Amino acid sequence: MATNRTFTMIKPDAVADGHTGAIIKMIEEAGFRIVAIKKTLLTGERAGQFYAVHSERPFYQGLCDYMSSGAIVPMILEKENAVADFRKLIGATNPAQAEEGTIRKLYAKSIESNAIHGSDSDENAAIEGSFFFAATEEY
Ligand code: GDP
Repeated sequence: MATNRTFTMIKPDAVADGHTGAIIKMIEEAGFRIVAIKKTLLTGERAGQFYAVHSERPFYQGLCDYMSSGAIVPMILEKENAVADFRKLIGATNPAQAEEGTIRKLYAKSIESNAIHGSDSDENAAIEGSFFFAATEEY
């Protein structure tokens, strides 16, 4: 059964380009409630842990370098059908294939620097949320 939470982070390119506010506005206007939020940095090692599932992929090292290149804004979000609805809001991994009006269509630069993360399952949403936030940081 679908839970009502997902995890996201605004990635370094979008934060550095000053799109944090615009992206949060889109997220709230789409009906998501922000449960937890902060601005932080990932070390290369922590980025590697977060994306461990991709460790055999050719883009893994580049992805870890990119994700540790600047500040990110992780968030836990709440809404009915959160995981699927949020994936719809952000659009395809490759912005060239993302639908009009999606966050990645508007703000992503490339398949790697694609502005925002969205969990792909309820299970991963819970794991990823607790990677960044303690239960006491959730409101
Ligand atoms: P997501 O669930 O849409 O974020 O996509 P994935 O879980 O498949 O990939 C994780 C992240 O790795 C993506 O958001 C991109 O930042 C990056 N990525 C995925 N595929 C590629 C690729 O083919 N090349 C490069 N350079 N980066 C990729």
